[in-house]
Amino acid sequence: MKKRLTKVFGFTAALSLLFPTLTSAYQAQDAFFNSQGFSKTTIAAMPWWEDSTVAGLGYSTILSDARAKWDAASAANVGYSKKTSADSATLRFYVHNDANVNYYGVFKPYDSSGTAFTDADVENPNKSFYKGNLVIANYYIQHSPAAGGGPMNRTQTLDVAIHEIGHSLSLRHQPDSEVSVMAISKVTSYGSPQTLDYSNIDYKY
Ligand SMILES: [Zn+2]
Repeated sequence: MKKRLTKVFGFTAALSLLFPTLTSAYQAQDAFFNSQGFSKTTIAAMPWWEDSTVAGLGYSTILSDARAKWDAASAANVGYSKKTSADSATLRFYVHNDANVNYYGVFKPYDSSGTAFTDADVENPNKSFYKGNLVIANYYIQHSPAAGGGPMNRTQTLDVAIHEIGHSLSLRHQPDSEVSVMAISKVTSYGSPQTLDYSNIDYKY
């Protein structure tokens, strides 16, 4: 009897461990930060500008391809409108070559007083994005742990850009077990937002 009970418990425990990996995708509203992000009007024609470092470090087509992939969402009204100055833009793109970072890219939102969001702000329903800086870390991309210390390939690099733009659309991270460009830590090479990502964007916008 004792043995049997133990076995049942073991089975239950295994199920509960297995369950999250099968169904833990964040979908619809749960896929998004709790803050207000950018307004739908802004998302529909996002005014963007790129710093000279983007072309200087060879990221112009990576970033234009990444924007086009989100623009291609079938039901969502996502669009991009190029501006010629940082001040007139809402989303600003930069690339740096800093050897002292351990990230591939980062999206940094700011409020209307120019203060950078904290992690808590990102989940604060009373806050909304006013501006955002999207920064690509070229040195880390060229010395990627996921590529054995060498350069990421173009598709992996494109996924970094797609992932960071995804944050500008208020998408939060997905578990690494999901097929998603928003995976929290795994390096993906899809070359495009995946079904889950597009479905979330189509839901919100
Ligand atoms: Zn991220």
